[in-house]
Amino acid sequence: MKREPVIGLEIHLQLKTKTKLFCGCSSDYIGAIPNTNVCPVCLAVPGTLPILNDHAVELAVKTGLGLHCSICDNTRFHRKHYFYADLPKAYQITQYEHPIAVKGYVDIFAGGKEKRVRVHHLHLEEDAGKLVHPTSDGRLTGASYSLVDYNRGGMPLSEIVSEPDMNSAEEAIAYITQIRQLARYLDVSDGEMESGSLRVDVNVSLTRPDGSLGTRVEIKNINSLTSIERALEYEIARQNKVLDEGGHLAQETRLWDDVAGVTRSMRSKEGDRDYRYYVEMDLAPISAGPEYVRKIRESLPEMPWDKRERFISEYSLSPEESLHLTEQRETADYFEACVSEGAPPAKCANWMRMEVQRMLHDYGIGINNFPVPSAELGKLIIKVEKRELSNTQAKDVLAVMAEKKTSLEDAVRICGVSGGKITGTALEEAVMKIFDSEPEAVKTIREGNDKKGAKVKFLQGLVMRETRGSADPAEVASLVNSMLH
Ligand code: ADP
Ligand code: MG
Ligand code: ZN
Repeated sequence: MKREPVIGLEIHLQLKTKTKLFCGCSSDYIGAIPNTNVCPVCLAVPGTLPILNDHAVELAVKTGLGLHCSICDNTRFHRKHYFYADLPKAYQITQYEHPIAVKGYVDIFAGGKEKRVRVHHLHLEEDAGKLVHPTSDGRLTGASYSLVDYNRGGMPLSEIVSEPDMNSAEEAIAYITQIRQLARYLDVSDGEMESGSLRVDVNVSLTRPDGSLGTRVEIKNINSLTSIERALEYEIARQNKVLDEGGHLAQETRLWDDVAGVTRSMRSKEGDRDYRYYVEMDLAPISAGPEYVRKIRESLPEMPWDKRERFISEYSLSPEESLHLTEQRETADYFEACVSEGAPPAKCANWMRMEVQRMLHDYGIGINNFPVPSAELGKLIIKVEKRELSNTQAKDVLAVMAEKKTSLEDAVRICGVSGGKITGTALEEAVMKIFDSEPEAVKTIREGNDKKGAKVKFLQGLVMRETRGSADPAEVASLVNSMLH
């Protein structure tokens, strides 16, 4: 009997607040000198008290609504006890029995079909500090001492806990990608795995012969989507092998070693009893209330999946095009602004997928920093529609607009392509370029040895090709002649 993989994910999103969750320290800690972004509250000096950051609550509620969760009327904090150097209070303020949001779902697309992954709940919690293990030779292991940096301690996180509803690495990746997109649409988190503003704990098990859930393993320390895929594939194979050989699996926490490409046992999984959860008496329960939730619900932007559907129905785009254009909210906005200039949606979509995409890639920038305003691209596309510019000319014009940060009009002038024809200085430049590349022919003509005029014709032909046929042949002929003599 084939055992089926079962996967449940815990995603931590670092929320985009200005300050930490329970104190006034800045949340802009990346790159700061270690232990400078701290205060008595986040350092757990005895006698200090936490004060809840209401913006964090708002962002968590927003996320919960985006995940189709019910927002709980009564929510409160608990203390989760464990002793570790990155946690100065020796307990983490988190939520346990009364999280902010429960019972949601996310629809994902994987393996050629749609699937609903249920979200068990979303809760708020504070982040821990960071341990640094310096080695004299720069190796990753074998440090003889550790350093601790509390700058990140107390940062607001919302943890999204899924039901064990995924059955393949592909589904897990699709789920994470969907949550990341949601977080960015809602502007609640950067959702960057590289910088740690999105972190994932992976739980995986194999079904038993009777179909029930098997013993699960939790994998930590995975820092990219590719690594999550690799870790899952490794772990599924490992568990299958242990069971095939008649062994037993332990419920444990394993660490992913990205270099070796293996998971290693870290510790047996703590049960909840080990954490001795207590109600956090220093923080009052929060009662969000329907009015508060209604206001936040009304402030929500269009959700990515709704935009995806609307782009297909409103602009007659293919599902692939719509998927591409709605991947980032900013790209979708740019596209719609382009269309609102009166350019045909299909053409706008095509320009964005081909030319704009390529230029963003070449410049290494995002659509936010693309120097050509959407209205200008819209007008450019309209010029192509009206056959005032050929496609090739329009591409050149766009390149000039981006490079020189000029208006459409100026770029058209610089390219010398107004009215669809290359004239003036642009044409002279093209002729000079051909002369430079054919010094022999130029010399022959100038020395009077081109009796039949074949070399002149040859040069004229090259100029026509250089200008991609958009120069007037008669003008080219006279310009070549006058410039030769
Ligand atoms: P804990 O509090 O110990 O982390 P939870 O019950 O909160 O445990 O579950 C954590 C995650 O583990 C959830 O995302 C859940 O979907 C997942 N999970 C639970 N059981 C299994 C299982 N048998 N296989 C895979 N994932 C599981
Ligand atoms: Mg957990
Ligand atoms: Zn602080």
